[in-house]
Order: sequence, then structure tokens, then C-alpha cells
Amino acid sequence: MASGMIRSFLYKNLLDLIFPSHCLACEEALSIPVALCKECLSHMTLLEPSFHCLRCFGPKTPHECKRKGLARQAFCFDHSPIIEALKAPELSKTLASYLLVQLEQLGWAVDFITTIPEHPLRQFASPFVQDKFFADHLAKELFIPRRDFLRAVSDEEFAPYSSYEFTGEHLLLLSFRPSNKTRRAIQVLQNQGPCKVLGLYITSG
Ligand SMILES: [Zn+2]
Ligand SMILES: [Zn+2]
Repeated sequence: MASGMIRSFLYKNLLDLIFPSHCLACEEALSIPVALCKECLSHMTLLEPSFHCLRCFGPKTPHECKRKGLARQAFCFDHSPIIEALKAPELSKTLASYLLVQLEQLGWAVDFITTIPEHPLRQFASPFVQDKFFADHLAKELFIPRRDFLRAVSDEEFAPYSSYEFTGEHLLLLSFRPSNKTRRAIQVLQNQGPCKVLGLYITSG
């Protein structure tokens, strides 16, 4: 390749990175430099906390409050295939901003930001962990300490990460969606003393 061609090739790749030519969620071609097409962007309307159950974020009408041992849980968006496609690592910062705004709307008091740990082998296979990215981003923006309280001893089992003893702290647990491991993780956390775990997720799916 001639050096001019190489340069224009690199330039094009760089532009693709900054201004993707296709919507990151649905892959529709984009005519203007944005990450998402108009249709996908229209799905990204933050859910309004006052329209939902304060504890499980379910409907305001009588319902069974299901929240996997969490003191409270809340979501940013209704589940949809578009929201599912937003899990792309390139959109992590955008999603983290929505978590930040939703947390502000919720007005939750938080002492620590944390995540449910991935088993080391799983993390080795895919080193980018979106939940950790969310936690780091919110910790930085809100000046709230981010801390790991658990380590994964298997895919489903956890052990305390340190000898930290809780005395009523509120822990903000961040993730793309609720996990089957949440109840188990909370049991291990509560063995370390009284604490309240608040789960904030991108979507309920
Ligand atoms: Zn799209
Ligand atoms: Zn409820």
C-alpha cells in the first residue's frame, strides 16, 4: 500500500471509531456522525421513578415485590431488543451516563459502589467487564468509593474479599441487568454485618 493510501486507510478507521458509519445497536447506515440512529435513540427514554414501585420498580398497582434480596432495585429502560444491543462496549460510557442520571432521579443515599464479581477464569476469557466500567465511571463522577466486597470462588459461589465488617452501609450494586447470583451474593455480604444493597440496572431483561 502506498503511504498516502495507508494514511487515508488509517484515517478512515479512526473516523469509524469516533463517528461510526453504522448504528451501534441496529447497524443501520448513518448519514450523520452519531453512535445510534434516530429509531434506536427513541428507545432510550429513562423510566420515571415516580411511576414505579419504590422497592422493586414494578408497577404502582398491587403486585408481588420481587427483588432478589435487594433493599431496592431500579432500571433505566424497559427491556427491548434495541436496549439489549446496547451492551456493546463502545456504548458503555453512554449507558453509564444514564445510570448516573437515573441514580440522581432516585435520590438514593450510597456509601459504596460495587459489583457482583465474575469468576477469574471468565474474566480472563473476556477482560472487558461492563459492570466494572459502570462502577468505576459512577465512582469517579460522584466521588463515592468503589469497592469489591466479594470474590467469586466459582460461577455461583462467593466469599468475602476482605474482613470488612458492615455497620449499616448502603451499597450500590451496578449491572446491565439483574443476575441470578444476586441473592447468593447478598447473603454473603450480609454475613459481614448489616448492610442494604441497592441494585441499579440498565434494563430488567
Ligand atoms: Zn439503530
Ligand atoms: Zn414492588
